[in-house]
Amino acid sequence: MSGTRAIASILLLLALGFLAALPAQAQERLQLVATTGMIADVLGELGGDQVEVQGLMGSGTDPHLYRQTRNDVTAMTRADAVFWNGLYLEAQLEDFLARLAQRKSVFTLGESVPVEARLADEEYTDQYDPHVWMDPGRWRHVVLAIRDALVELVPVHKAAFTERADAYLSELDALNAYAHEVLATLPEGNRVLITAHDAFGYFGDAYDVEVLGIQGFSTDSEAGLARIETMVDVLVERDIGAIFIETSVSDRNIRALVEGAAARGHEVRIAGELFSDAMGERGTYEGTWLGMLDHNVTLIARSLGGEVPEGGRLGRLAAKGEDE
Ligand SMILES: [Zn+2]
Repeated sequence: MSGTRAIASILLLLALGFLAALPAQAQERLQLVATTGMIADVLGELGGDQVEVQGLMGSGTDPHLYRQTRNDVTAMTRADAVFWNGLYLEAQLEDFLARLAQRKSVFTLGESVPVEARLADEEYTDQYDPHVWMDPGRWRHVVLAIRDALVELVPVHKAAFTERADAYLSELDALNAYAHEVLATLPEGNRVLITAHDAFGYFGDAYDVEVLGIQGFSTDSEAGLARIETMVDVLVERDIGAIFIETSVSDRNIRALVEGAAARGHEVRIAGELFSDAMGERGTYEGTWLGMLDHNVTLIARSLGGEVPEGGRLGRLAAKGEDE
């Protein structure tokens, strides 16, 4: 064997070894699927290099109406575990996930929030408000449930998952403290948040803000004219000057409120877009749960007359004080 051929053989062997090693390494990482972006975000933060996370719903996606695609079914069927919110949020996925849960690990994270900390639906008293990511105090339970699920799936990485969860929870606590601080500066008469649907109940409960949604907990039913009329009455009678649209819900009803109030001589402005059931674009600060809440807290506090630092808690928000 000549020197050149020997080197070529060694290189070939190295290349084959490298190729063989790649899939094995990839397979070592836990393959996880999450329904909402908020859940996918925390899974990625806590799982680190030990997991590969696929989120099914992107920014602007309404989970109440979302139906699984063929690709989603393949991803969920192949995954090591699937994580969803439950509490009837992903209503169209319920049947599929219930069947999937009979043969693999499916974690229903919303149910980790204790029953006594959940808000009941006014209409359907056996159902709960599913929007548990809106209050850091409730979301803490979900973060802990994700940590425990990861430990259950790969016990050998327990120390890493625990360490990352602790670090994440201290950020969560700092965000919660910031929210309390800036929302406490709202003038008393302005502690009213009006949005397209009832996604902010836990937020209002946590920070003592009255919340009125045009639609209920879900977006799957049309708001009637009577509901719009009632809300216009509230705007006029209580002299509310700012309302909000949501990135994952049509702004039609909110615009109807603005027009209805204008017809009665009361000017209401649309103060901007809140992230209700979906986060911002992937790769941005607002595309993380921490950034999403910072955006909401900061925009709400500023628009309703409170005092907030420019750029939010960490100075990282894209929208700095300008109304959209
Ligand atoms: Zn919702």
